[in-house]
Amino acid sequence: MTYAFKTNTNLFYSLKTKTMSHNNISFWVKSLPEHTAFNANAQTFDAQVHQHFDVVIIGAGFTGLWLAYYLNQAQPHWNIAIFEAQQVAYGASGRNGGWLSPHMPGIVSKMLKAGISQENIVFFQQQVTATIAEVRQVCQKENIDCDLHEGGLLTIAMNPAQATRLHKLKQHDHQFGYPQDEIEYLNQTQAQTHLNSNNVKAALLFKHGARIQPAKLAFGLRDCLRTRGVKIFENSPVTAFGKQHVQVQGQKVSANYVVSCTEGYSDALLKNRKIIPVNSSIITTEVLPEAFWQRFGWTQKYLLNDQSHQFFYAQRTRDDRIVFGGRGAPYQFNSVDAGHGHLDNATIAQLQHKLAAVFPEYPIAIAHAWKGSLGVTRDWCASVSLSPNTQVGHVYGFAGHGVAGTNLAARHMATKVLQQQSELERLPWNNFQNPTWETEPFRWIGIHSMYRMLGWADQIEYRKQQPQTTALASIAYKICGLN
Ligand SMILES: Cc1cc2nc3c(=O)[nH]c(=O)nc-3n(C[C@H](O)[C@H](O)[C@H](O)COP(=O)(O)OP(=O)(O)OC[C@H]3O[C@@H](n4cnc5c(N)ncnc54)[C@H](O)[C@@H]3O)c2cc1C
Repeated sequence: MTYAFKTNTNLFYSLKTKTMSHNNISFWVKSLPEHTAFNANAQTFDAQVHQHFDVVIIGAGFTGLWLAYYLNQAQPHWNIAIFEAQQVAYGASGRNGGWLSPHMPGIVSKMLKAGISQENIVFFQQQVTATIAEVRQVCQKENIDCDLHEGGLLTIAMNPAQATRLHKLKQHDHQFGYPQDEIEYLNQTQAQTHLNSNNVKAALLFKHGARIQPAKLAFGLRDCLRTRGVKIFENSPVTAFGKQHVQVQGQKVSANYVVSCTEGYSDALLKNRKIIPVNSSIITTEVLPEAFWQRFGWTQKYLLNDQSHQFFYAQRTRDDRIVFGGRGAPYQFNSVDAGHGHLDNATIAQLQHKLAAVFPEYPIAIAHAWKGSLGVTRDWCASVSLSPNTQVGHVYGFAGHGVAGTNLAARHMATKVLQQQSELERLPWNNFQNPTWETEPFRWIGIHSMYRMLGWADQIEYRKQQPQTTALASIAYKICGLN
């Protein structure tokens, strides 16, 4: 199906898209039975019947699902619909590393530059940390088993420069909202009691942080919403939207509120260069034996990452695999998204190489690999807004921190739609105005140069074994607005 609409005002967006079923976008989706991933209760959009809703949500990732959940909790009789271009969890929500991360989305220096007070950034951090418990409580209440395990987070240093950055990170995090007793610095001996690898030189242990199986969470929310009467129309791309309407399958559907939750896919619809898809890639190992976990001491099931510039992130799954992600294949020219997630061999090899550096001298077989699109703004800060005039809302820009962030943002957006006074209005992303990305080819050149330089910076730091961060990394961060 191809649609083409004219963009007349900034409230009216257009899109060309295709629909297609897919069950292979990630290990998370693939490992579930077909009927769980794509259940038989799927609703079909019928323009004759479905003409008006109280709220229409565009996109059935975590943001859209959580928003529908909290709105339905507050107003069970509201008629709420989610329109999803493909399937529930087709986007980043079905492909991520499953970190309910304790880290807030966004760059603190950018928030400060935008005039956000330190007090509100501290409030943000506290809210993100509290979100881990919120997700756990909803899962318990709604009987959603998503393998949630609160084991904290271990951030390792694999050379002296990374160890120096751990000290800085600890200082920074204390300044912006982490209580002293929630982050512990571990020297090499202490760190190796948590991860017994010669390549571990130091670590930070964060008390908070939880692992989930993200597709189980998304499908659990979907099933919960459907039993409560929320309509979720899959294979139903919104091709345009504006004040009190969306356009679906050539039909106009009216709604009191319209909220766009399309994250890394947003630019195809908004066409305003505010947010672009930047890929992250993941490999999953085969099930590893008990001897492996004992050998490396990864028994606490904490989340795991490192302080390299081209960092990795990992979790130990409920069935004893490692899910190991990183930044390979970062950006496709003209903001093309990650499609169905096919990952090239070079990126798989790159991730395997890094995995072997963390867990040396142990043969580890890979079972699955994929990629997905993060939604990244030019200043890497998220934004949550609802226009009081048009009642059109936008939520986007979580980059790599959306698993917890989307829950908090959805609760915030729900208070806006419900016109409730809320302290969540203090959150830095409230009506945050992001700059636009450069036009091509400068965007492609900038992002690829940044990743290339960060790779070189890591190599230099491994080679030199000195405590200073190389200047090359600082230049790269500056180019891409991460400084
Ligand atoms: C590989 C990878 C690893 C990650 N790891 C982590 C992690 O471990 N921890 C963490 O906190 N964050 C992580 N993230 C980020 C996190 O997954 C996202 O921030 C979060 O899932 C975003 O959710 P969302 O609902 O906003 O967007 P998405 O899940 O991307 O959902 C957007 C949905 O909108 C749909 N859509 C697009 N256009 C239209 C349209 N026109 N009409 C209707 N529907 C449309 C899409 O099909 C999609 O389903 C990772 C992301 C990736 C890609």
